[in-house]
Amino acid sequence: MSKFTCEVVAVGTELLLGQIVDTNSSWIGEQLAIAGINSHFQTKVGDNPDRIEAVLNQALERSDAVIVCGGLGPTQDDLTRDIIARVMGVELDLNDELVAKIEAIFGGRKMPMNNLRQAEVPVGAEPLPVMPGTAPGLKAPVGDKVIYAVPGVPWEMKQMVDQCIMPDIKARAGITSVIRSKTLRTWGESESGLAERLGDEVDRLDRDGGATLAFLASGVEGLKVRITAKAETEKAVEEILTEEAQRVRAILGDALIFSDNDESMEQVVLALCAERGLTLGIAESLTGGLIGSRLTNVPGASAAFKGSIVSYASQVKFDVLGVPEGPVVSEEAVIAMAEGAARVLDADVSVAVTGVAGPDPQDGVEVGRVWMATMVGGVVETNTVKWPFDRDRIRQFTTITVLNALRQRLLALP
Ligand code: ATP
Ligand code: MG
Repeated sequence: MSKFTCEVVAVGTELLLGQIVDTNSSWIGEQLAIAGINSHFQTKVGDNPDRIEAVLNQALERSDAVIVCGGLGPTQDDLTRDIIARVMGVELDLNDELVAKIEAIFGGRKMPMNNLRQAEVPVGAEPLPVMPGTAPGLKAPVGDKVIYAVPGVPWEMKQMVDQCIMPDIKARAGITSVIRSKTLRTWGESESGLAERLGDEVDRLDRDGGATLAFLASGVEGLKVRITAKAETEKAVEEILTEEAQRVRAILGDALIFSDNDESMEQVVLALCAERGLTLGIAESLTGGLIGSRLTNVPGASAAFKGSIVSYASQVKFDVLGVPEGPVVSEEAVIAMAEGAARVLDADVSVAVTGVAGPDPQDGVEVGRVWMATMVGGVVETNTVKWPFDRDRIRQFTTITVLNALRQRLLALP
């Protein structure tokens, strides 16, 4: 590790009052750690000029670089620009290029005069070349040190840090190697189970080097296996990651791993349907539209997704889906639902779920009992589980489990 240090300052009174959680500092901290940059301090400070100035001066005394986030907006309480100018001992200057950029974003709509404040740059500082929103970031040299300023809005901040700030910091710190990671996503195995299956591979990597593996539990999103590698070039690091991903896949198998690229289960299922030219229909009861909702969160879902029938009441199952009168949390019912969904929605493949989400048992069926069905190539397969969870988790786990069952069947198609 180089001796170079960088610290993070988050500006905003809301952060101190607990109204928003400072996820920006954590995320920036993670990026610095991944890049091998020492970072010893993170400070939060309210929207107060003197206190922001004091914090920036203190940060510059003890670190080589400072990343400050927040307070770059157009309003009077957005002070970061002014204070950076003060710390540099310079005036603010209206930057014509930024004026043009900000005007272009307003695209002819009347721009509030306040937005011109965002085009002001301390003399000697420069705007960051990446500007995803209307708030420009800044790179402000102070002696041989540097302050980077980014907006508080997380998605704007992340792009600037990723694309402008980290490369600059790494160059200053004399770091030439590239560190990258790749996230495999799994469903259907516990954290300890996964650690056990990959135990030998972790030992091998400890011994031989190459990459490192980390397990991240993501609740109803499953478990992630993050592979991290370091090499001299982008190409070399990609090769290590791809090779290690193949090893991990060979060990865990396609049934467990649903993505090599941090995609969601619904993205993967929709892509598999689309690749095979199949349309998908859903009949859902206890999930109340959650399956359809997750599928439609994916841009381009309409290429495969036909729709979801939320047949919550028994009568709707009978009338709309043609479920035979009788118990509706049963194998017979879920089979009829899957067939009904494919028929009514004119879909090639279908998925159905019915169960008891609680809090009370229904028709003598215990809370947590769920029946799931997938219909592929006209053949319905079912399975049942008894979840030991609360209502919300029962619904979430059911959704991802049935989508995973469909994924496995799609993969098995010739
Ligand atoms: P804008 O130009 O949008 O006003 P800004 O630079 O002024 O950006 P802030 O006004 O401080 O940034 O924050 C804008 C929003 O970004 C906040 O309402 C909050 O939702 C989010 N945000 C700000 N700081 C943080 C932080 N440290 N962690 C997570 N979210 C944050
Ligand atoms: Mg603001």
